[in-house]
Amino acid sequence: MSTPDLVVVGSGFFGLTIAERCAEELGLQVLVLERRSHLGGNAYSEKEPTTGIEVHKYGAHLFHTSNERVWEYVNRFTSFTDYKHRVFGKYQGQVYSLPMNLGLINQFFGRSHTPDEARALIAEQSSEIATEDATNLEEKAISLIGRPLYEAFIKGYTAKQWQTDPTKLSADIITRLPVRYTFDNRWFNDTHEGLPVDGYTAWLTRMAEHPNIEVRLETEWRDVAEQYRGKVPVVYTGPVDEYFDNSEGRLSWRTVDLEASVVDVDDFQGTGVVNANDQDVPHTRIIEFKHFHPERVKTHLPGKTVIVHEYSRFAEEGDEPYYPVNTAEDRAILLRYRELAKAEPMVLFGGRLGTYQYLDMHMAIGSALSMVDNRLRPHFAEGAPLTSGGVAE
Ligand code: FAD
Ligand code: UDP
Repeated sequence: MSTPDLVVVGSGFFGLTIAERCAEELGLQVLVLERRSHLGGNAYSEKEPTTGIEVHKYGAHLFHTSNERVWEYVNRFTSFTDYKHRVFGKYQGQVYSLPMNLGLINQFFGRSHTPDEARALIAEQSSEIATEDATNLEEKAISLIGRPLYEAFIKGYTAKQWQTDPTKLSADIITRLPVRYTFDNRWFNDTHEGLPVDGYTAWLTRMAEHPNIEVRLETEWRDVAEQYRGKVPVVYTGPVDEYFDNSEGRLSWRTVDLEASVVDVDDFQGTGVVNANDQDVPHTRIIEFKHFHPERVKTHLPGKTVIVHEYSRFAEEGDEPYYPVNTAEDRAILLRYRELAKAEPMVLFGGRLGTYQYLDMHMAIGSALSMVDNRLRPHFAEGAPLTSGGVAE
């Protein structure tokens, strides 16, 4: 590709959605630059070679969405299994079925409750703080589920996950904490859910297969920016602070250390995800990947399984940025980068790194489709300027 019409920095779901739509719908020549040795961003997966088990290299990825447009779009590249995600939590030697539901409440309090009895119990236990008065994560959680459940299932896990006292964390983190007065223990509430039948990498590779798309691996934006900056429209999905050489300061992230091992048992924990809710257990959870694809049992080497222990910590330079910490200072820094981004000619910032936002896959894809609708199609099809961009909405 001599001179591309559009350069996309990053080949995660955001970047590949932009590339695919611009190639297919707008007929553009798109050059995708990716600094890793593979495409796909954090959703990339590969088979562990000795066992044949698909492992999500950057942490377990479960696809779910209620966005019909996104669902229709992703089904052009892959079909999905009927996997429904469930999460269990280990606390003081017992295993409970999360999220908070009638099964967990009965087991934890050691007797059966009807839905109304459980509702009354939780109402009484959570009465010490009104939800609208809660000013931090601890108060919010207690106001929703009461202190005993908070101390068992939230306090230790959250302290490990964020390395921050829950009284110092934003109440927002826990907003989506569901409590169900039924035995429904599905983790997600979305209309559509499943795992890509032949894996994430096959799906992501198909998105990039268009003849107008070239993916250039092991290519760092900084090293080639000179060639394209200000000359060709760019969609940048790398870290926004890095784009501006950290001139306004570094945005803080949490990273996760993923320790994978092949163990000599056919089944290690009987399910895909077991959270470690005790604070004195150092890992936050264990993922056993074979359980994500029970339909592949014949392709997995019997007598072995792959497990991954996850340990959360603050990201330092060189670590993979996973979850935005989003302190007040981070938000102030981000505002300054947004101003710089607005002034950056012909560059749009998108994706989770480019906007400093936690985005699920369906959100990253939906947001990329909106950027095509609102910015790229008007520019390429109608000549609208691309300069008023800034960090994507
Ligand atoms: P990314 O996938 O991070 O892609 C960005 C790409 O840009 C990367 O490949 C990177 O190498 C490249 N890049 C960055 N800077 C440069 C540069 N300067 N030059 C060249 N290339 C560059 N979502 C769900 O829906 N369900 C889940 O269960 C789920 N689990 C997750 C678990 C973890 C641990 C994490 C971290 C995320 C999870 N997600 C999940 C979110 C999912 O990973 C994101 O939605 C998705 O990765 C967003 O895609 P993206 O393209 O914005 O970013
Ligand atoms: N959480 C918790 N106990 C659990 C699961 C979740 O306290 O067993 C809290 C924790 O603060 C976490 C938040 O809920 O950061 C969101 O949980 P989720 O599993 O969705 O986090 P993610 O996988 O996105 O890190």
